[in-house]
Amino acid sequence: MRLGLRLSDATLLYMSSVRGLNSLPSMISSEQIIYLDNNATTQLDPAVIEEMLPFLTRFFGNPSSGYRFGAQVRSAIDLARQRLAVLLGCEPGEVVFTSCGTESNNAAINSALQLDPARQHIVTTAVEHSATWRHCDLLSKRGCPVTTIGVDAEGNLDLEELERALTPQTAIISAMWANNETGVIFPVEQIAEIARRNRVLFHTDAIQVVGKIPIRLADSTINSLSLSAHKLHGPKGVGALYVNQRSAFKPSLIGGSQENNRRAGTENVASIVALGKAAECAAAALADEATRVRAMRDRFETTVLERVPDTFVNGNRRVRLPNTSNLSFAGVESGAALMMLDRHQLCCSAGSACRTGSLDASHVLRAMKLDADRTRASMRFSFGRFNTETEVDRALEIVPKVISKLRSLSSASAVREPAGV
Ligand SMILES: *Cc1c(COP(=O)(O)O)cnc(C)c1O
Repeated sequence: MRLGLRLSDATLLYMSSVRGLNSLPSMISSEQIIYLDNNATTQLDPAVIEEMLPFLTRFFGNPSSGYRFGAQVRSAIDLARQRLAVLLGCEPGEVVFTSCGTESNNAAINSALQLDPARQHIVTTAVEHSATWRHCDLLSKRGCPVTTIGVDAEGNLDLEELERALTPQTAIISAMWANNETGVIFPVEQIAEIARRNRVLFHTDAIQVVGKIPIRLADSTINSLSLSAHKLHGPKGVGALYVNQRSAFKPSLIGGSQENNRRAGTENVASIVALGKAAECAAAALADEATRVRAMRDRFETTVLERVPDTFVNGNRRVRLPNTSNLSFAGVESGAALMMLDRHQLCCSAGSACRTGSLDASHVLRAMKLDADRTRASMRFSFGRFNTETEVDRALEIVPKVISKLRSLSSASAVREPAGV
C-alpha cells in the first residue's frame, strides 16, 4: 500500500516535470534561430533519427544475447561499424564504439601508457581540446612527463620541434587533425611519418574533421583516431576510436567482452546505429557539402571583412576546415558580442563552447601569441549541412550592425570615463 503510494507520487512528479518542460515559455526552437555553431554540435539529420528510433522501441534486445532477438541488434551494430569504416577508409574491425569523443581521446592516451612502464612520456600540442589537454595536465601531475609543442601566429605546428621532443621514453604523440576554434589543419600524415620513424604511437583527435574532409586510414600510419557522432549530425553521447589493427591496445573500461574486448559495457545500440547512419550520410554528401559549406563560409567571411573595418581572420586561411571562420573585431569584447547576437537569434561562439562562462581567454589564440585585445575579441562562426544562403544573408545584416553598435557604445563610454579606466 505504502509502496503503491510512493510509485504514484513518483509517476505524478515525472508527469508534471514532462509537462513542465513542454510548457516552458522560454524554450527556443531551432526554427527561430540562425545556427552558426556547428563546431560545438550539429543538428540531428532526420534520416539518422528514423534509423535509430526502432532501437529505442521495438528492437531493445541485448546484442550479447544468444537468441535471434538479440542477434538482430548485433547485426545492426555490425552494419554501423561497416558504414563508419567506409567513411574512414579502414577495416570494420578497427572501429571501437565509445560514449563520446572525450572518452576516445582519453582511451587512446591511457592505452599507450599501459603498454610499457618504461615509456610514459607524452607529446601533445598547445592547442588541443580540453578532452586532451586537461587529461595530459592530470597525467603530468601524476608523474608522466608531458611535452607541449607550440604553434606559430597562424596556428601551424612546428614539426621539427615535435620531432626533437621525442625520446626513447615517449609513449605517444597526441595531436588534433583540425582545430575546433580556428579550423586550422595539422599535417597529420607528416606527423604519422615522424612517429613511425621514431617508433612512437600517434593518436589524432579528428573530431572536427570526420565528415568534413576525406579520410583514408588504410593508406596511413596513424595508430589511433577519435571521432564523435554529434559533430557529424548524429546524437550526443556516442563516439568511436579507430585503432589500427597492427597497433596494440589496452582498454580503459574493464568488464564484459564487448567491442572485441576493447571497450566493456553494454552497447548504446540506438546511438551506435545512429552514428553508422550519420557516417553513411556524411560519406554520400561529403564532396558536394564541403563545396557548398565552403562557399557559404567564404561569402560570409569576405563580406564581413568588407563591411566591418578592423576585422582579422585568426588562423591559417589556406589550410583550414571548409566550415570554420574565426574572426576578431578590434575593440569588441566577444562575450558582449555573443550576448547581443543571441538577442538577434544568432548562435555562434566566443572561443570554445566548452569554456563559455569562464573568463579565460582562449588557450588556442593565446598559443598563437595574438595580442590580448585580438584574443578577447575573437568570435567563431561555424557552418554546416543545414545552413542556408538566406541564413547567411541574415547573418550578414546582423553581424555588422551588432559590431558597430558595440563599438559606438564602447567609444561613448571611453569618452565618459577618465583615461586609463
Ligand atoms: C567536440 C570535441 C571534442 C569532445 O567530443 P565529445 O563527444 O563532446 O566528448 C573533442 N575534441 C574536439 C576537437 C572537439 O571538437
